[in-house]
Amino acid sequence: MTVSDTYDIAVVGGGLLGCTAALHLAFGGMRVVVLEAKALCRQASGVNAGTLSIQVKEAELIPYAMRSSELWEAAPEWLGVDVGFRRLGGLTLAFTDTEAEMLKERMADRQAAGAPIEFVGINRAREIEPALSDRPVLASYCPLDGYSDSTRAGKAYRGALLRNGVELRENTPVTGVERDGVDFAIKTKSGVVKAHRVVLAGGLWLCDIMAWFGFRLTAECRINQVSVTARMGPTLRTIVGIANGFLSLKQVANGTVLIGGGWQGIGDLERGGVEVVPENFTANIRLAKYAVPAMADARVVRTWLGIEGHSENYLPLVGPLPGVEGAYVLGLVRGGYTIGPIVGKLLAEAILGREPELPLFDPARALRPMVQA
Ligand SMILES: Cc1cc2nc3c(=O)[nH]c(=O)nc-3n(C[C@H](O)[C@H](O)[C@H](O)COP(=O)(O)OP(=O)(O)OC[C@H]3O[C@@H](n4cnc5c(N)ncnc54)[C@H](O)[C@@H]3O)c2cc1C
Repeated sequence: MTVSDTYDIAVVGGGLLGCTAALHLAFGGMRVVVLEAKALCRQASGVNAGTLSIQVKEAELIPYAMRSSELWEAAPEWLGVDVGFRRLGGLTLAFTDTEAEMLKERMADRQAAGAPIEFVGINRAREIEPALSDRPVLASYCPLDGYSDSTRAGKAYRGALLRNGVELRENTPVTGVERDGVDFAIKTKSGVVKAHRVVLAGGLWLCDIMAWFGFRLTAECRINQVSVTARMGPTLRTIVGIANGFLSLKQVANGTVLIGGGWQGIGDLERGGVEVVPENFTANIRLAKYAVPAMADARVVRTWLGIEGHSENYLPLVGPLPGVEGAYVLGLVRGGYTIGPIVGKLLAEAILGREPELPLFDPARALRPMVQA
């Protein structure tokens, strides 16, 4: 193998986080290859609800969510296309006094972290969102909340990566990564790829990937459900969220309403199958109707599930893999569609030797040495 066969950096995992890092590394002049087991942005990054909600993020993530939302808005500049970003503002509803207390407590930390969240009573909430029922007792409102169309993400990233000289190898599962002198030998079914450095951005599968390096990593999993209605007349102006249950509703540009989160599906991660739970589906639709009575006229045309993996404290792993020079970890943030554009960029900045505009999240906190049998 000649020197020119060795990439500056290989990114394992072509979800939103890996693709974002790959793109910024290419902007920085690196020769990059992305190795993706299936197709770009087809796992969590392609089936998510597309909600870019700042107010639901952990307080530590508020500056990241605010910056990431700006990046989504500016996608035509760095990604080359608009991926349907809309900043509609978002309301999170509490229906009981207990929920109202919980909402106040949760939002206080996020306000302190800089999120422009205000509490509004039912009258003001219904001025902001006339479709609401009269049932909420309190709402939090964040004018920065929005959404973008996750079904467009893969196509957008593929175009941007190719235009910037990144080599894409889809349908290429990586089966192991080993040190090969100063470089890495990345094993795939179609041969070994060599790179000076490697970014490990395998989403939920980071747990398996960390085992290659002798680390035990535990991730939490949510089997998220999303339903889409047939097109409706103008119904919702904002993103409507329910404080108790993480359900969200929004009407997207083509008139359909997306109902995401809430009660989940079930799944067997070992075998990879996921299933809609009929009672949970019904409960989510009922809750949507409870918050927005016009949903009684909605026709749900499709429901799907996807697996969201996140770390124990919901914060991402973004930084060097301990003890393995030149290897980096990127992933496992809750709500990664919102946060992806900034954390991918931050890691690329660090790898390029620049000062990241916000601090990274040391992966060492979540890694334990594997116990030898
Ligand atoms: C149904 C659903 C709804 C959601 N809704 C929202 C939302 O509204 N807002 C929000 O902010 N977030 C949402 N999320 C979360 C968000 O989608 C994820 O946090 C984010 O997409 C994670 O991106 P990722 O790149 O880390 O992981 P992924 O998108 O899972 O990408 C990881 C990639 O790595 C690849 N890979 C793994 N192992 C290997 C290997 N050995 N070799 C090669 N490739 C490998 C996988 O094939 C995959 O493509 C939702 C998630 C789901 C499932």
